[in-house]
Amino acid sequence: MRLTFWGVRGSIPVPGASTLAYGGNSSCVEISAPGAPTMVLDCGTGARALGLHLLGQPSRKLILGFTHFHIDHTLGFPFFAPIYAPSFDVEVLLPGQEVAEARGLLMEFLNGIFHPLRLPDIPAPVRYTSLVPGLTRQVGPYRVRAVPLNHPGGACGYRVEHGDKALAYFTDTAPFAKPDEGVAVGQPPTAAEERIIAALRGLDLLVFDTMFTREAYLERMGWGHSYPEYAVALARAAGVPLLYLFHHAPEASDEQLDALAARWADSKDPVVRLAREGGSVDLEG
Ligand SMILES: [Zn+2]
Ligand SMILES: [Zn+2]
Repeated sequence: MRLTFWGVRGSIPVPGASTLAYGGNSSCVEISAPGAPTMVLDCGTGARALGLHLLGQPSRKLILGFTHFHIDHTLGFPFFAPIYAPSFDVEVLLPGQEVAEARGLLMEFLNGIFHPLRLPDIPAPVRYTSLVPGLTRQVGPYRVRAVPLNHPGGACGYRVEHGDKALAYFTDTAPFAKPDEGVAVGQPPTAAEERIIAALRGLDLLVFDTMFTREAYLERMGWGHSYPEYAVALARAAGVPLLYLFHHAPEASDEQLDALAARWADSKDPVVRLAREGGSVDLEG
């Protein structure tokens, strides 16, 4: 299994001179495995370039999972070329919501007002599948579990397994404990952290929301985002060997992200890297 980052930003795309190295597109990742349909998680603005790339690939089957419908995770959907190609077969995963309810939310966005495309007029055959949070479900060759996160309005992370490899994409989420409790301060996990740690056990790779610094988190605890020290503590508690920091703040410059990467470069438990647009993690080799 391989994961490729097409958009690594939170909140809003930030193209420009200060984001050239890590990229300015908002959240979108691609998961692929030999002989398996491509799985796309979130459709931020990174989905535009991914869609063009997929047009050139032989497979016409796609699985597209949303974590939630905030615009930094959906804005690329009407610009995702495969939904305009009738030869594509797209299965959309909607965690934690009934299909009708989730389609209704997407239709409020794709209603001919905010974008010319209306959801019912998508040319490609699109099927919608509701995922029950907490239950593992077979989706094509992948075993997929949606896990409820701590985010205003709700969001679900994804645990995805293929063969003997497992990864998780957990964005957007605040910590699962108060600042003076749980794994962040070296205490036993809270009950909410136990639930998340159970969902992370056995992973080869965790991608986790670290939009804030710890100081910014303490000022904005209700905003639903986490910080690097928390992601590291959680990954360590779950025995995850490799952590990618993700959903970078729009104001984080390449220089600042390089400094963050340098701060964690020596970490071994887990190994810590920063998500970078165009970067891939190959779990097979
Ligand atoms: Zn977001
Ligand atoms: Zn969000």
